[in-house]
Amino acid sequence: MVDFIVVGGGIAGLRAAIGLADAGRVVVFTKTEASESNTGYAQGGIAVALGDHDSPALHAADTIKAGDGLCDEAAVRVLVEAGPRYVGELIDWGARFARDPAGRLEFGREAAHSVRRVLHAADATGREIGRVLWARVSALSSVETINHGFVTELVVDGGVVDGVRYFDASGEARELRARAVLLATGGAGQVFRETTNPGVATGDGVALAYQAGARVADLEFVQFHPTALAFPGAPRFLISEALRGEGARLVDRAGRPFMTDHDPAGDLAARDIVARGIAREVEAHGGPVYLTLAHLDAAWVRGRFPTIAAMCASLGLDLARDPIPVGPAAHYMMGGVDTDEWGRTSRPGLYAAGEVACTGVHGANRLASNSLLEGLVFGARAATAMRQPPRPAAPKPDRRLIESEAPAPVSAVSLSVDEIRDLMWRSAGLFRDEAGLSAAIAALEAGRTAALAAVEGLACRSSAQWRRLHLLTVAGLVARAARRRRESRGGHYRADYPVRDDRLWRVHVAEQAPAR
Ligand SMILES: Cc1cc2nc3c(=O)[nH]c(=O)nc-3n(C[C@H](O)[C@H](O)[C@H](O)COP(=O)(O)OP(=O)(O)OC[C@H]3O[C@@H](n4cnc5c(N)ncnc54)[C@H](O)[C@@H]3O)c2cc1C
Repeated sequence: MVDFIVVGGGIAGLRAAIGLADAGRVVVFTKTEASESNTGYAQGGIAVALGDHDSPALHAADTIKAGDGLCDEAAVRVLVEAGPRYVGELIDWGARFARDPAGRLEFGREAAHSVRRVLHAADATGREIGRVLWARVSALSSVETINHGFVTELVVDGGVVDGVRYFDASGEARELRARAVLLATGGAGQVFRETTNPGVATGDGVALAYQAGARVADLEFVQFHPTALAFPGAPRFLISEALRGEGARLVDRAGRPFMTDHDPAGDLAARDIVARGIAREVEAHGGPVYLTLAHLDAAWVRGRFPTIAAMCASLGLDLARDPIPVGPAAHYMMGGVDTDEWGRTSRPGLYAAGEVACTGVHGANRLASNSLLEGLVFGARAATAMRQPPRPAAPKPDRRLIESEAPAPVSAVSLSVDEIRDLMWRSAGLFRDEAGLSAAIAALEAGRTAALAAVEGLACRSSAQWRRLHLLTVAGLVARAARRRRESRGGHYRADYPVRDDRLWRVHVAEQAPAR
């Protein structure tokens, strides 16, 4: 028994662990190596209203505009008003963000921000933040880390979450109890075949919460990043939006800029618009599209984006001179475990923060560089709530609650991880429709029936089967949410309902498993 369990060692989990350290014993779980998280891969930076021409009100207005009518405005206010304090704390702890020659913080520009607002450490901001937070956590004697500890289930006792079951590094199944459990498990990009996310981002926290009876919300809203590297055989490495913010252009095979054909904001339109613009361009004209920086100063480009330049160089591409082939990939999950502004979920004892949570700050589409800030602010706030006696989040008035229907009786069909990811990319990716989603849901339900039988079979309690079950659970939730929402908004695009419909759909939909 410990006092607090934090599942996840990214920005949200680490900031929470720091906030809990003087209140008892804390255990932080990570699924693989400590450094492997979405946080570690974040490039562009962290948005914060600290610049001379900026204010929390302006940051809130940009966030709400990007969220396409679905942001929880109270949660947005918390994010933008608390942001400067928590980012200031990171700087005090030693975070080295870029500065101008006079030593003032340098703010980068990204799409849909009305001012320069993004603090960055070259193009490896997440790595720098992770370095600072891990250094701080390692110095805290009350915090222990279990790396390669794969959490598979939450322990629920009398309706209260008070522990986790997990596989340790040697594959041994174990249980650990605590006063409060925080899910800070990050995103779910790996549910899709094409993704910028690392292998750990399989949406486990959503599956864990759902299986423990907690509400999950807004899972139809997945952000597809327009510019992942599309080089045959190479991983879908992210080519940050900061490049377009600094003047990079999207061009077709003939070198013609095409984004203004799709939106007046051109290359700096919202991510979902650029992603669909690219997909349509590829479909209409065949062949890849490219990002070009050849018109910018080459030495400046290589100095400003050293990580991306090195990745391109490893494939024989010169970022500053060559056209870089790019295409869309699943990037960020706006929905997740439904929480209040303190990270409380609908289950007492269970909290969620960071990408796994749905605070409502992103609405239907996330403003670039707001997610590191969300993890930082709400990780700290969840720690405050976890120190208090457990109580569930009060239901929010703008949530429509759905109890999952029992799946239609289906025979169990085993689906491989690759088959699940391929199905999701084709049927629940950039362009969705009723027929494709219904077929995907039927296949996913058949797969989940088989995966459930496998983990319940006494002889088959292996971590691989749990991984598949979690992936199928999250994939099914995303596909069902996407089929339910018969409109297009933010990251969710229905080819058969292409228009935003505020009369019926200006609402968050939360789903919960039937009580067992
Ligand atoms: C390539 C890339 C670039 C990005 N760039 C930016 C950017 O510039 N600015 C920005 O704001 N956002 C960016 N994002 C998004 C941002 O990085 C993430 O949303 C954010 O870092 C999530 O932090 P987190 O703490 O919620 O989760 P993560 O950092 O993903 O951490 C999740 C942790 O949970 C652990 N975990 C997961 N499942 C389990 C389990 N079952 N058992 C035990 N442990 C588990 C993992 O091991 C990991 O330690 C980017 C994302 C990617 C992928």
